[in-house]
Amino acid sequence: MSSQSATTEVVDLVSRLIRFDTSNTGEPETTKGEEECAKWVAQQLEEVGYTTQYVESGRPGRGNVFARLAGPPDSDRGALLIHAHLDVVPAEPADWSVHPFSGAVKDGYIWGRGAVDMKDMAGMALALARQFKRDGTVPPREIVFAFLADEEAGGAWGAHWLVEHRPDLFEGITEAVGEVGGFSLTVDRPDGTQKRLYLVETAEKGLGWMRLTADAQAGHGSFLHSDNAVTEVAEAVARIGRHTFPLVMTDSVSQFLAEVSAETGLDFNPEAPDLETSLFKLGNLARIIGATLRDTANPTMLKAGYKANVIPQKAEAVIDCRVLPGRQKAFEKEIDELIGPNVTREWITHLDSYETSFDGHLVDAMNDAILAHDEHGKTVPYMLSAGTDAKAFAKLGIRCFGFAPLQLPPDLDFAALFHGVDERVPVDAVLFGTKVFEHFLLHS
Ligand SMILES: [Zn+2]
Repeated sequence: MSSQSATTEVVDLVSRLIRFDTSNTGEPETTKGEEECAKWVAQQLEEVGYTTQYVESGRPGRGNVFARLAGPPDSDRGALLIHAHLDVVPAEPADWSVHPFSGAVKDGYIWGRGAVDMKDMAGMALALARQFKRDGTVPPREIVFAFLADEEAGGAWGAHWLVEHRPDLFEGITEAVGEVGGFSLTVDRPDGTQKRLYLVETAEKGLGWMRLTADAQAGHGSFLHSDNAVTEVAEAVARIGRHTFPLVMTDSVSQFLAEVSAETGLDFNPEAPDLETSLFKLGNLARIIGATLRDTANPTMLKAGYKANVIPQKAEAVIDCRVLPGRQKAFEKEIDELIGPNVTREWITHLDSYETSFDGHLVDAMNDAILAHDEHGKTVPYMLSAGTDAKAFAKLGIRCFGFAPLQLPPDLDFAALFHGVDERVPVDAVLFGTKVFEHFLLHS
């Protein structure tokens, strides 16, 4: 055994990853740092003996790194993909109490943009990949480590491009583990004790950005006009914005609520009239869970007109739609009723929802790994209201989970740290996560 183990270097690796400013603005001109960071990751892997593949996903500078660690030579099991994106959302230094790209380690936290989304997991995966290679570890199945670009802008120039143009990189992979899951939610039991539930992501809502358009006759603003594109779009937008979609419990959500109910005694029966109020007793994570009970459609952009006394020929709006697994058709039918006959719609971006079952060997391995390091812990499935690169890998038939284990202080507002100011991750949580992830990979 070498003296250098994953836990001795993981904090330093996370901190160094944060120091690469990999801000993804969504605009190719201003997105930066992915190439530099990916090449540094490749160097850390090659240093211990890996052969790496550096691949640019469709545009110069969109750097991705792949490395494979062989399983037993006679194994017929599919490979396991461990993926982490290296890009982050931008940060405004003036708003922060430390520089967002300092990677400062202080007060028991690693600070900086990406600390929880998701250079923490990238660092854990990197530290374990290095440890396994140094120690000559043969995992129970082949592991593919992937560090990726462009997740924060939807992955068109990252995971989705790679899946479409370089499927060879994913050869032999049957399952994948990435963000957003594995973090603990501490709940109060009726007897006054507490239980830590570790949320494993088994489902993601779909993401769709929809453009509404109304065409009408242009004309003078002083005349009578029954046909006005601005009025049509404004009415459609208002109806959508005020609409509540029906409550639908998918398997992931009802299993999650049943588990929480069993621990807390709170009533999450779908028939309960105060279901959504009860949810808020779970604390800050209610913001995530609450968004997985219904489809949402939030108007985000409006565009029309060029002069105060000209009725324009055209008016447009954009709606951010998040649709539950199995609801796409029904969702579109409701939208069509809301927008009426005079407004048309089209998808600017559309990524399907995803859901897998919470069972099987890999799920057992996650729960065992948690239990080995937290005897009061338990894994439960949940649905993410947003999307991750899992949406891209699912297109290849790969079964995807979110599991980046972190044991969090009960009062930490974890959800607020994602893309938030003063994003930071507890050092202890990262050390705990590294040990759990090691156990998980060695039994995967
Ligand atoms: Zn992320």
